[in-house]
Amino acid sequence: MKVILANPRGFCAGVDRAIDIVEHALDWLGAPVYVRHEVVHNRYVVEKLQKQGAVFVEDLADVPEGAVLIFSAHGVSRRVREQSQQRHLRVLDATCPLVTKVHIEVLKNLREGYEIILIGHKGHPEVDGTMGQYTNSKERAISLVETIEDAERIQVQDVNKVAMVTQTTLSLDDTKKIVEVLLKRFPSIRQPRKDDICYATQNRQNVVKQLTEICDLILIVGSKNSSNSNRLHEIAVKRGIESYLIDYPEEVLPTWLQNKCCIGLSAGASAPETLVQQVVEVLRKYGATEIVEQPGIAETVTFRLPKELLNHTKQKNKSVH
Ligand code: SF4
Repeated sequence: MKVILANPRGFCAGVDRAIDIVEHALDWLGAPVYVRHEVVHNRYVVEKLQKQGAVFVEDLADVPEGAVLIFSAHGVSRRVREQSQQRHLRVLDATCPLVTKVHIEVLKNLREGYEIILIGHKGHPEVDGTMGQYTNSKERAISLVETIEDAERIQVQDVNKVAMVTQTTLSLDDTKKIVEVLLKRFPSIRQPRKDDICYATQNRQNVVKQLTEICDLILIVGSKNSSNSNRLHEIAVKRGIESYLIDYPEEVLPTWLQNKCCIGLSAGASAPETLVQQVVEVLRKYGATEIVEQPGIAETVTFRLPKELLNHTKQKNKSVH
């Protein structure tokens, strides 16, 4: 039995930065630090940070006045930012810069009088944050489209003043079909200059597609609430390949491996490499004899920490040397 490790897989630059922000804040300011929503959608990461002193909350009312609050990588609405100010919270923003890019697009289009169609999944925190960039409840200015049927049905006020943006972690294939419908209905619709679906989502999906050509089982390490991990799992299933989304290595069942020659193993953008390596060990135990890295592109994207944390890190390094 051969195991092919997807490349690239696992942590993206936005997740790396978000976790770094929580860890640096704990180191600098001490526990507890409060985090609005799971900083990234991964159980292992969240449980590890909880042990270090992070407290995850959904409602700002659960954060004591004046405490440290970190916004998760998914971003927040303007309302949440206002509430944090009202409660005098010390905010550190771990919103992924690629989500912020979408927020900026939304605000620019709104300023220029465009109505916005957001392609995304209802209820996902990133979608709530992006929709929440618009705070005037009197008129409809942002509409959510989830499916082709939604795109076929949606009505706009002025077909010449419509712009589209998307959630960053969508399926490339499904989104393409929705965009085609919107373009047909609103030919002058304004599109983002650079894709909103981020580089990490695109790379991981393209690699899993390649794995479906050569593997007879695909395992994805990632949590059930992780959008990009679910999309990887879906790609395999839609292509008729048996696939499982797993949080932890202990979830791998020997029955999955019966009569399998080649197993593809990937991880969502919020899943750490340590879990991938633990899954590899389990697969070895169950008879994998060859473990190979799929040749792939190197990701070089990195994002800087917020200025106040960078300054603290620099000072700390100086005092160590
Ligand atoms: Fe940012 Fe993309 Fe990672 Fe989300 S998946 S945190 S948008 S780089």
